[in-house]
Amino acid sequence: MKKQEELFLEFLARKRLKNTSQRMIILKAFLRQNSHLSTEDFYLQLRKKHPGIGYATVHRTLKLFAECGIAAEHNFGDGQMRFEVCHDNEHHDHLVCTGCGRIIEFENQQIEQLQLDVARTHKFFIKSHRLELYGLCSDCVATEQQ
Ligand SMILES: [Zn+2]
Ligand SMILES: [Zn+2]
Repeated sequence: MKKQEELFLEFLARKRLKNTSQRMIILKAFLRQNSHLSTEDFYLQLRKKHPGIGYATVHRTLKLFAECGIAAEHNFGDGQMRFEVCHDNEHHDHLVCTGCGRIIEFENQQIEQLQLDVARTHKFFIKSHRLELYGLCSDCVATEQQ
């Protein structure tokens, strides 16, 4: 069993929530994703194989994943909540294209270090952070210049 699966089962037990077969189907499908999925996208994808799973169930389950810490929840300003799988010791930030909605992931150790320096200066302990830069991707810049 994957670590995230175990974490989720522990979480359900702690919350006294049932480990339903629908939740397990959603969990397994979610853990196979490697993008920033909106509830809508994910629901449409699931529905092909599992027509019995409703939108509300998908939405609530994604929220539980986020609460449990196996999913990161993002609002990139396009009116959709997006979810991605969290992996151990892995952190990345995002460039968000407001033209086409493309999301580019990046990691920059200097930025990470600078954040720690800023926190230290303010005697602040960082528990988590999110950094999102908004603008146009190279394709959209090229289209705009035509
Ligand atoms: Zn773009
Ligand atoms: Zn990401």
